[in-house]
Amino acid sequence: MATTAAFLLPAGGLGAATRGLRGVRAPPAVRSSFTPAPWTAGRSTRAARPAAAVVMATSTYKVVVLGGGNAAGYVAKSLVEASPDTSLCIVGREEVLPYERPALSKAFLFAEPPARLPGFHTSVGGGGARQDAAWYADKGVDVKLSTEVTGVDVASKTLTTASGDTVVAEEALIIATGAAPIALTKTPGWDLDGVYTLRENAEGLRLYDALQAAKGEPVVVVGGGYIGMEVAAAAATVGCKVKMVYPDKHMMPRLFTPDIAAHYERYYTDKGVELLSDGRLCEEILGDDDGKVRGIIMCKDGEKTEVAAKVVVVGVGAKANVQLLDGAVAMEAGGIKVNGSLESSAPGVYAIGDVATFPLALDGSMTRMEHVQNARETAAHAVASILGTAAGDYDYTPYFYSRVFGLGWKFYGRNAGANVTV
Ligand code: FAD
Repeated sequence: MATTAAFLLPAGGLGAATRGLRGVRAPPAVRSSFTPAPWTAGRSTRAARPAAAVVMATSTYKVVVLGGGNAAGYVAKSLVEASPDTSLCIVGREEVLPYERPALSKAFLFAEPPARLPGFHTSVGGGGARQDAAWYADKGVDVKLSTEVTGVDVASKTLTTASGDTVVAEEALIIATGAAPIALTKTPGWDLDGVYTLRENAEGLRLYDALQAAKGEPVVVVGGGYIGMEVAAAAATVGCKVKMVYPDKHMMPRLFTPDIAAHYERYYTDKGVELLSDGRLCEEILGDDDGKVRGIIMCKDGEKTEVAAKVVVVGVGAKANVQLLDGAVAMEAGGIKVNGSLESSAPGVYAIGDVATFPLALDGSMTRMEHVQNARETAAHAVASILGTAAGDYDYTPYFYSRVFGLGWKFYGRNAGANVTV
């Protein structure tokens, strides 16, 4: 059992020092005045230094998760269920406890009243408990919120945070840093006020406000995949005049066949969304004198068209957050390469969720998946691997789902072979 005694929580943060400890422990009022107590048994210590020196904390747990997102919440669920005495710490940069991220582009943006935390904390989407602050306190799981990890030493399984504190994993370090939206950094105007991407709760809140303020006004959504389709549907439902710009022949080319896409495109058009597809690119984002977005320049076959926009939402894909592990573990297909136990090339260091490239048992390919069901199942499998209870290698059937307007779809397996539409 861990005996972590000193821990830091940013405002709104949550922590419990040990498993089995009931209730949330108040963070020390003055960080630099802490002196290690004899009962910390070396698990969590702050070196005694001269008063003026910055004092760092070290906390030690059996299992540590880097990243406090969707998959991290399911690690907590699985570990608490299977081994409640194994100490666990989650370190994440968001200011909120792990939640079901898919909610952000759905009822979060358009429902009345909008879906908000704590309503969709993990593991409600997977049929589990709503893991709110009381749940983590009760289970003795320490969650360090608003904490940016800036360094990872895989040999000692140690994280260093932006404030210089260290968090050590005695048995297993799980990397669950997810992915970051690709910004159109090569497109002039990409950073204007009024240009949005959507990944985290805070971004969702900003986008919600922007769409509310743009009722009846033009909104351009760049991208015709998952995020583009869902945000466009939400913006149209809010009452914005939506145009979607994407270069592909049809929506969701990765998963939809042309006839299924045609059905959706008709549906969107009927809902008033204008589709600017088939080779059309967003070439420039235009701003006004105050640096606020006012439109885009769209280009097809060298022909440029100006499209007005009060809000521009960019949904053109995401990149796995692997930077901290660059050079430290093997990478493949843009993610951290793991084996069937979800263990990376560094012993005791696992990767799960969007950041993991794993062997897909179905066809033997090395695959990275940015889908919530994979986040949930990799979390459960990594915990089983760590505890030595996994029945075999990770065996996942790809599963995707989405909801737009009144339509929902589910997709199982791979988009390969012949298609038969029924
Ligand atoms: P995340 O949930 O992204 O969690 C990663 C966490 O790590 C984040 O909180 C991040 O802040 C933190 N982090 C990263 N780097 C650091 C660092 N250095 N220090 C501290 N913390 C760090 N999938 C579906 O199947 N269906 C859907 O309908 C669907 N809708 C989606 C809608 C949106 C808007 C988004 C963004 C995704 C959607 N997904 C959907 C995908 C799904 O949400 C992801 O697959 C899932 O969130 C992956 O979980 P994860 O834990 O790997 O990553």
